[in-house]
Amino acid sequence: AKQEGRNTYHWFTSELNQSMMDRVTLRSELQKAIESEEFELYFQPLIDARSGRVGGMEALIRWNHPERGMVSPADFIPVAEDTGQIIPMSQWILETACRQNRLLYDSGHRTNVVSVNVSPIQFQPGNFVDIVKRTLETTCLPNHLLELEIVESVLLHDPARVIATLHELRELGVGISIDDFGTGFSSLSYLKRLPITKVKIDRSFIQEITNDPKDAAITQGIISMAHHLKLKVVAEGVETGPQAAFLRDNACDIFQGYFFARPMPMAQLTEFLASYTGA
Ligand code: C2E
Ligand code: CA
Ligand code: CA
Ligand code: CA
Repeated sequence: AKQEGRNTYHWFTSELNQSMMDRVTLRSELQKAIESEEFELYFQPLIDARSGRVGGMEALIRWNHPERGMVSPADFIPVAEDTGQIIPMSQWILETACRQNRLLYDSGHRTNVVSVNVSPIQFQPGNFVDIVKRTLETTCLPNHLLELEIVESVLLHDPARVIATLHELRELGVGISIDDFGTGFSSLSYLKRLPITKVKIDRSFIQEITNDPKDAAITQGIISMAHHLKLKVVAEGVETGPQAAFLRDNACDIFQGYFFARPMPMAQLTEFLASYTGA
């Protein structure tokens, strides 16, 4: 057993070294990327189920690496969170998202809400409300046209302070949604404690909604519960017509997914908004 343990350990160290090396490389490359502006913000339309029109958009970061090509945020966001680089990066994201949405507003899209993903790390320095307030002021975006997407794990560290921060953001008129809803571990008590305006049902439930009665039941349950709590419901990852039909039949409020539109650069989104006739 001892021998086996040692072998396992050796195997583990070499894997660990490999991944640590990747992380060190990634860290310095992220630094360069921040400096040389290799990031771009994409926007994915959010479709209002009732009107069939675009009601908002989620801002999603893209890293166009000079050699590696497009690097997925799922790969570099966790590293940026570990190194603290998420802080300057998120500042750029928030400012760019607000500025771009103000431009849309000026071109006549007066009700379009931009949703920005927030990392739990951004709550740690204790000045998050000031940053949001200042960014809304400098970009001249009406406060109610910004929404922040948080994940349940935001409450792992100093929940009382995070909840107070979220209340202050709501007082500013900024919307708050719970992202990836249903994948955390104590969603229901959070629903009661957090001053939120929306829940986003995770794609993992939507994927099999038309084949798996359990996923269908969970989704119906989330929608019904959210509505009783006066919250709007967004379905993430809607990829097919039958999924959209099921969600519409079950009173889901907002759709997001490839069936309607993929994330795209702002230039393309402007064209999309001009030509989209509704779902
Ligand atoms: P998320 O917040 O859950 O974002 C939704 C993800 O689902 C996006 O992946 C989006 O492109 C993808 N998606 C949308 N519709 C569909 C669909 O119909 N089918 C499938 N298969 N996927 C769909 P993306 O852009 O790769 O982002 C991955 C994750 O990285 C995000 O998950 C979020 O956790 C994080 N992320 C992305 N941008 C930001 C950012 O600006 N700040 C922070 N803190 N995190 C970000
Ligand atoms: Ca999100
Ligand atoms: Ca999500
Ligand atoms: Ca997700």
